[in-house]
Amino acid sequence: MSTRTSRLVIVTRLGLVGFIGGFLLFYLTGILGINWGFIPCMVGGIAGPLGLLLFSWTGVRLIGAVCYGHDPAYRKYIAKGGDPYFDGLPPPFNSDSWTQRIGGLREPVTDFIPPEHWRFQCPRCGARVEHGNSMCWNCGHGNDLSQCHGCGTIVREPSFGAFETTGVICPNCNSVIRN
Ligand SMILES: [Zn+2]
Ligand SMILES: [Zn+2]
Repeated sequence: MSTRTSRLVIVTRLGLVGFIGGFLLFYLTGILGINWGFIPCMVGGIAGPLGLLLFSWTGVRLIGAVCYGHDPAYRKYIAKGGDPYFDGLPPPFNSDSWTQRIGGLREPVTDFIPPEHWRFQCPRCGARVEHGNSMCWNCGHGNDLSQCHGCGTIVREPSFGAFETTGVICPNCNSVIRN
């Protein structure tokens, strides 16, 4: 399930901007002595941004499908609820953090603010982490994984605490991994 800001919310925000735009249009044309009428100004103000949204969204998705449709990373991103158009919209339309836009999970509120260069997201709690395969500082996800000193393979322990007690044999190079 995606926890990105709902697209309905983003579209509503755009519609609100159009609403204000319609008012401005009505006001400005009034000053200039052009009487376009209130309703046409409001309809134009709202339909303008929403029409532009539909048009540019279709364009972005088409380009995405044509250029990256064969890319497994792109397909996975789309399958997990990602949308290059909505995820690329600036605030205030889309107020999600970049980590949330890419990873799709809301970052947890904690005392610790991860450094800027931590770009991966914990798949369990959404916290920003330094490496894609290391233990999460927030929820501990990934602490059943260890990297083999011999060949660098990431190995998952078969039973809880096996790295600390018996050690785990690396399936790749057969060396014993023990923390
Ligand atoms: Zn986590
Ligand atoms: Zn190994």
